[in-house]
Amino acid sequence: MFDIAKIRNDFPILKREVNGKPLVYFDNAATSQTPQQVIDVIVDYYQNYNANIHRGVHSLSQEATDAYEQARQKIQEHFNIAKSHEVIFTSGTTDAINLVANGFAAFIKQGDEVLVSALEHHSNIVPWQMLCEKTGAQLKVIPMGTDGQLKMDIFHELLSDKTRLVFCNHVSNALGTINPIKEIIDAAHKVGAAVLIDGAQAAPHIKADVQELDVDFYTVSAHKMCGPTGVGILYGKEDWLNKLPPYQGGGEMIAEVTFEETTYADLPHKFEAGTPNIAGGIAFGAALDYMNAVGFGAIASYENDLLEYATKKLLEIDGLKIYGPLEGKASVISFNIQGIHPYDIGTILDKLGIAVRTGHHCAQPIMDFYQIPGTVRASFSFYNTKEEIDVLVEGVKKARMMLQ
Ligand code: PMP
Repeated sequence: MFDIAKIRNDFPILKREVNGKPLVYFDNAATSQTPQQVIDVIVDYYQNYNANIHRGVHSLSQEATDAYEQARQKIQEHFNIAKSHEVIFTSGTTDAINLVANGFAAFIKQGDEVLVSALEHHSNIVPWQMLCEKTGAQLKVIPMGTDGQLKMDIFHELLSDKTRLVFCNHVSNALGTINPIKEIIDAAHKVGAAVLIDGAQAAPHIKADVQELDVDFYTVSAHKMCGPTGVGILYGKEDWLNKLPPYQGGGEMIAEVTFEETTYADLPHKFEAGTPNIAGGIAFGAALDYMNAVGFGAIASYENDLLEYATKKLLEIDGLKIYGPLEGKASVISFNIQGIHPYDIGTILDKLGIAVRTGHHCAQPIMDFYQIPGTVRASFSFYNTKEEIDVLVEGVKKARMMLQ
């Protein structure tokens, strides 16, 4: 059963006040809040078995190594990853995409093409532009429509035997659009191209099955799904991970080092140079335990109710426009009120204790497409309530009255 009172009680931050008002936290797409169960795991690590992993024979090091590797297995199970060494710990999605973009330089040459969707976060654009600069490959864009959906007919036309790689997010952080990634993956594979899916925004809402998707690379950030910042994963098919050269050199990622030659460690360590975010990795596993105990089916249907309720209420406000799809999307609402700058609305909402994001959401091409400087983005999580949405709606009405 979905017990919202119990769930809210798990998140200590939801009890605080901001500017003298109860916090209403609607910036979940930027980062989610952390339940006590996950905070406890972090504290337990530093209080009881803080030690560097993989290298020590002493007990603390072994305990830390075991906990870290158990977390890797939890992540493996959660995303139905075939082999635990296909889970590479990274500092997050940005790091994971840079790892692949950096390594792909070995497989791309002048005249090759890579396809990016128009709906991307900057972290799934800029690393590929850098790759293209390095290799002379061409970056082509899968365009979007005003409905916030990718133009799939053009995507199919853009694919050719020159296409080496397609990268796209599973869910858009700016609009909440859920992209047809299975269609993208299957079509790309038919022309021999690999596919990287940025799962940063999908992972808090949708339990992806990477084997069923048959995706080559999938990226996740723990902090968007009740885990800590500074940790995430790259899933890669074993074949690809074996082919890609290492990203960073250093300790942990080597087999043998001499001044003449270095050989690299096996997967996953080849891509895990240096001391990782150990507590973060272990807490990522605990965050998945927490979310799975709530249940992804229950989370999706509860968030969808919140989304429908908020969409209806917000659209009743004069001059308010929502960008992108209105339904069939993740629980993100990006909006503006005619004649008012999004930043001004966000500032007034903050005075009322309501946290929303304003600006371009690291997706400037989407804002350029709509010819706007940015939007106000309210993004909902399973610990939010309809009462909080009422507070938002009243806040937006108040902001409109004050600013117009
Ligand atoms: N892609 C998407 C779709 C995102 O929403 C984000 C975070 N806003 C990122 C990538 C980058 O994630 P991180 O900052 O955790 O590396």
